Amino acid sequence: TEGQLRQAQKMEAVGQLTGGLAHDFNNLLTAVNGGLELLEHRINAGQYDKLDRYMTMARTGAQRAAALTQRLLAFSRRQTLAPTATDTGVLVAGMIDIIDRTLGPEIELSVETGRELWPVLVDAPQLENALLNLCINARDAMPDGGRLAIATENVVVAAGTPGHDLPAGEYVALHVTDTGTGMSSEVIERVFDPFFTTKPIGEGTGLGLSMIYGFVRQSGGQVQVRSVVDEGTTMSLFLPRLVGPQATHALPSSPMPRADE
Ligand code: ADP
Repeated sequence: TEGQLRQAQKMEAVGQLTGGLAHDFNNLLTAVNGGLELLEHRINAGQYDKLDRYMTMARTGAQRAAALTQRLLAFSRRQTLAPTATDTGVLVAGMIDIIDRTLGPEIELSVETGRELWPVLVDAPQLENALLNLCINARDAMPDGGRLAIATENVVVAAGTPGHDLPAGEYVALHVTDTGTGMSSEVIERVFDPFFTTKPIGEGTGLGLSMIYGFVRQSGGQVQVRSVVDEGTTMSLFLPRLVGPQATHALPSSPMPRADE
């Protein structure tokens, strides 16, 4: 059946991915071991020049390996999150520059962060990553340019509110709206599946939204998609309001240090 075929293709993709990762990881370990061996050798021989070079070689390898496992953990949705009381509006504001640069000149960016946003308990760097990923998806859906709007707001969901599959409660919502291609209902249905992508081979991994989904669910929240073909898409992250003593000192998050994702 088509479902089995899809499953088989997925397994093949998983095999390729894990094979590739094992290979990368092994290369990094080789660099670490090599650096350490050279260090040992020189120290034993009483030659203390070039030590820092070999040290750097080992350290860089180890750091890259750590980053690689971090990505794997994110994918398996078993990463250890470090949630802190976070002001989503401040987090968004800190990301505007990098998002603007990512979007390029053809896409007009507007940002509206609600006033007196409730704090949420979330791993801030992960939320920054999620936001950037949503913006990259939006950009890719607007090859000829368009508009991207980021908005945050407090949302109260009463039991049985129509149009919401959210459990009743108080949330801070982060919406990313684009005027791009939109998605058919077939695409919407599969958008959170790992490895589902409509992008050309080498451009899309199909992991972005599945990771975001895993992260948001692990944070107690929900992800919502609204999309109309040829009109655009709104991706919304709903994060539960943080209440209690922690909520009184929500810390502004530090801006994201890297621009490579
Ligand atoms: P990738 O971006 O690597 O394809 P994602 O999991 O982030 O992986 O997205 C999966 C698919 O969902 C994309 O290939 C695209 O078809 C669709 N998609 C995601 N975001 C949007 C968007 N804003 N507009 C239109 N399609 C989108």
